[in-house]
Amino acid sequence: MNKLFMIAFTTLLLSACGAEEGLTQAEDDTQVSEEEQVNEESTSDESTEEESTTPDDDTTSEDDASNEDDSTEQDDVSGEDDSSGNDDTTEEDDTTEDDSSNEDDATGDDDAAEEDDAPGEDDVAGDDAEEEEEVVDAEVCTTGSQLGDIPANYVAALEKYTTTNSEYTVYVCTQDTNNDGTADYMVVESTNQPEHESYYFEDDNHHHEDFDFNTNKYKYDAVYDSQRTGAAGNNMIEAQTVVMKMPITPSAAATKTVTPYGTIGLAINGVSFFNENAAPGDDITEELFTFDQCSGHPQGSGLYHYHVDPVCLIRDLGGEVTTVTHTAGGKTYSWIEDTGTNAGLLVGFLVDGFPVYGPVGNSETDCNGVAVSSDTIDEYNGHSHCTTEFSETIYHYHVKTAEIGATGEAVFWVTNTHYYGEPGLLER
Ligand SMILES: [Zn+2]
Ligand SMILES: [Zn+2]
Repeated sequence: MNKLFMIAFTTLLLSACGAEEGLTQAEDDTQVSEEEQVNEESTSDESTEEESTTPDDDTTSEDDASNEDDSTEQDDVSGEDDSSGNDDTTEEDDTTEDDSSNEDDATGDDDAAEEDDAPGEDDVAGDDAEEEEEVVDAEVCTTGSQLGDIPANYVAALEKYTTTNSEYTVYVCTQDTNNDGTADYMVVESTNQPEHESYYFEDDNHHHEDFDFNTNKYKYDAVYDSQRTGAAGNNMIEAQTVVMKMPITPSAAATKTVTPYGTIGLAINGVSFFNENAAPGDDITEELFTFDQCSGHPQGSGLYHYHVDPVCLIRDLGGEVTTVTHTAGGKTYSWIEDTGTNAGLLVGFLVDGFPVYGPVGNSETDCNGVAVSSDTIDEYNGHSHCTTEFSETIYHYHVKTAEIGATGEAVFWVTNTHYYGEPGLLER
């Protein structure tokens, strides 16, 4: 049933739009995105969006490649966001989250929802998408990482992108978009694949590991209110090129830009960060219940992402995590959680060029070991002081702080609704 619908939608979408979610982010064209979004939204969601998604990706990536698109898109995005505020969400939301959200949300339904995921189907419909997704060649950093071109104060931090992954290479370079002989962007380019376990890897991927989604009822006990727990439909992690272009000289924005619904930054393992928003009408907390054992999930086009503290990445980067267990109905569930002591751990960057560190617990210190008060965290969820990677004071975000364990009223969102700095470009 759903499938039929989906396929139908997909077909329509594909032919009509071509793009989708990602869009939001930046890529493709606004136009598409809008359309798609519309579709997605209007449609029920699930299917539509995701499907669309796929197509986009394809499109996107290429588009992105061209700078023009990006600019446009982003602008749009921002524009939209701003204007609408959250509502805008709509479009954007769709884009990004939709997937998840819808799915999740949809959740309710069954899998149907998941259809979103339908990605597979999508593929069917628009083969392109699939094919394209498979294209993972560097689009900007075509000669590999060029750390020597990165501004000196950013080298130590950006180099982590190149040393964290061993299977899925993440490149760092610069780009001179206007050919004036001076680099305009610090570029991070990845295939957006985590090197940690995930239920969302295909069975033949050695990172695939089953997961009992009922665990999330206990993991997110503080926000659990009889939501439906389950996988995000048929969405599976798909390799795809994501290019993050950060201003060569990051700066605070006079007017803050709303973060879109797609990728807003890249974790140190090259995986996308999404914000904490869900598609219109949905509650992000619904999506929590489709997160895998590493607190991430893929959207309709297979773009894996973190809305919250990336616990497995934190663990793999040497941060402290703790295993929590809960027994219910004779069955024991276990998962890992951040201990709240990883405030000094660099976990990624947002597209405005400002780094993202772990959640602020009760013991953050600066590069000199001097205690930093969490009272200084601003509305963008950041503050300024020197860090291990930055010897000079720098503005940086922290994953939002929340209660540790299933006792709090919140979870660790990656970031707030606005960028602190001027965002660069995100292309897919
Ligand atoms: Zn999501
Ligand atoms: Zn800090």
